[in-house]
Amino acid sequence: MSTSRRIPVLMYHRIGAAHNPWERRYCISPALFAKHMRHLSACGMRACSLDDFFAWLDRRKDLPAGSFLLTFDDGFTGIFEHAASILQELGWPATVFLVSQLIGKQDVWWRTENPSGATYPLLDRDTIDAMRSMGFTFHSHTRLHPDLTTLSEDQLFSELHGSRSDLENLLKEEVHYLAYPYGLYNEQVLDAARAAGYKAAFSTQPGFNRNDIDRFRIRRLDISGTDTPSMLARKIHFGCNDGSWRQSIRYYKGRVIDRLGIRH
Ligand SMILES: [Zn+2]
Repeated sequence: MSTSRRIPVLMYHRIGAAHNPWERRYCISPALFAKHMRHLSACGMRACSLDDFFAWLDRRKDLPAGSFLLTFDDGFTGIFEHAASILQELGWPATVFLVSQLIGKQDVWWRTENPSGATYPLLDRDTIDAMRSMGFTFHSHTRLHPDLTTLSEDQLFSELHGSRSDLENLLKEEVHYLAYPYGLYNEQVLDAARAAGYKAAFSTQPGFNRNDIDRFRIRRLDISGTDTPSMLARKIHFGCNDGSWRQSIRYYKGRVIDRLGIRH
């Protein structure tokens, strides 16, 4: 059996209906999400658990080639309504990063960003409980989804440490992992995340994860509601957020030039 030397982490947001081009960037239709998962399965890929991902990073465990980690930011109700059944069918686990003070509420942080001003419901406590027995694990996406790079030391402590303790009270288990809101962080945020007791954090920097990846800058591929299954496959193949053919051609041209360079 061949084993993975690099593992992509996929990042989705909302699953449901998108009502304008802005929403399509952060929202995928239930039908397209199911197509994505079936396409990955048909390509011989399979989602691994968060525990296995970190065991692999720490060289404590091998994972088969084609392994990837599936993550959802924000904790929208559509994950339960539309993703849970297909993931159960495939036997695939997934991780959801929750905004700990908005559980059962709405994604109010997007209100000023979304041109329509619409907000969407977030998972509530009972649904989170039900999903835990279906293979979902839950970790932190802060308390209120701020841009962490703009906060004072006290505010950072509240968002990072506070969110961990909110979720540990809710889940009655330890919460080790963080996803930075908007993918934004700086050195002060990284230090605060370590001090708040997290073991690792997920960014939105594209690329692959190898064993030597900085545990507080884990890379993820941003999957949007306009990605066809083949664009998704190209993003995974090249480890980048551009799933277009143009990107593939650029990549192969680069390789040819590299080879020519070696020969001369
Ligand atoms: Zn978010």
